[in-house]
Amino acid sequence: MAAGFAVCLALVAIFVSGMAEGPAHVRAASGGDIVAESRQLEIGGATITVNLVAGHTDIPSQRLYAWVTRAGRAVTMYYGGFPVGRAEVNVRPAPGRNGIFHGFTFFPDSRVLTTRISVGEHTTDEELADDWMMTHEFVHLGFPAMADEHHWIEEGIATYVEPIGRAQDGQITVNSVWQQLVEGLPQGEPGPGDRGLDHTHTWGRTYWGGALFCLMADLGIRRATENRMGLEDALRGIVAAGGTMDQHWTIERAFSTGDKATRTTVLAGLYEKMKAAPAPVDLDQLWRELGVVANGRNITFRDDAPLAAIRRAITEPPTARLTPVKP
Ligand SMILES: [Zn+2]
Repeated sequence: MAAGFAVCLALVAIFVSGMAEGPAHVRAASGGDIVAESRQLEIGGATITVNLVAGHTDIPSQRLYAWVTRAGRAVTMYYGGFPVGRAEVNVRPAPGRNGIFHGFTFFPDSRVLTTRISVGEHTTDEELADDWMMTHEFVHLGFPAMADEHHWIEEGIATYVEPIGRAQDGQITVNSVWQQLVEGLPQGEPGPGDRGLDHTHTWGRTYWGGALFCLMADLGIRRATENRMGLEDALRGIVAAGGTMDQHWTIERAFSTGDKATRTTVLAGLYEKMKAAPAPVDLDQLWRELGVVANGRNITFRDDAPLAAIRRAITEPPTARLTPVKP
């Protein structure tokens, strides 16, 4: 539920080669972890190698594979296919702890995009079912690596897309998606002295400011296309053009590629507006237009609101399939 409350580090790191040579029956994963057990999952056209690093969890390994599978399905729903052909997940048991934490996605020497994520020894089925972090990490795979000042768009996309993908796959409710946005987005608003998304590197502006950019982009694309297209079409276009996390792109290239896919200029226009100026959004007004009514943590919807159809379209399972362009 607390999307973005923990800090996720998505970095393209060049690791020094030095993977430990283990005994014949074990193998080292990226970063030197010793793998106790491993399985290949086929999800959305991708082969995802899940390595369970040596250590104890109360939960049997079967459920850990199922948890990674759910995250893969959520991302596959949103992108119409898993965004890269191969990926690796190293699950690290954390002694004496509960929950899922320390998600970190990088591009190591092995040339296979890799997510490292910790699962507490005493993590329960409920905690695995509630987890957002594994999905968040997978979303990072579907966008090119950016220069540091644009980190907000990498985290913004992951923060915005994660609950939507999970809702599209039926893992969480649509109400819960909007509840997270209503609670989270005020933290993405500019504060005093803000100099725009490219120049204000606070936690709130990076995760929720980036998510606010994504919501405004989604609404902008839907308004410009009579609700036929949304942010997912722009992001799918970027993936289809080869813009995945193993590639370094400029933000201008990513946005022009996304705009080309929707035949709009929404991303470039919004970036121009938000990159170097505070550009606050009247969220209360926006919720009224979308028909999102919050009573405490309880969210209800008004279908007579002017943008109700757009609100519904955002969380509807998309039907178009991603055209694979990479082998
Ligand atoms: Zn992240």
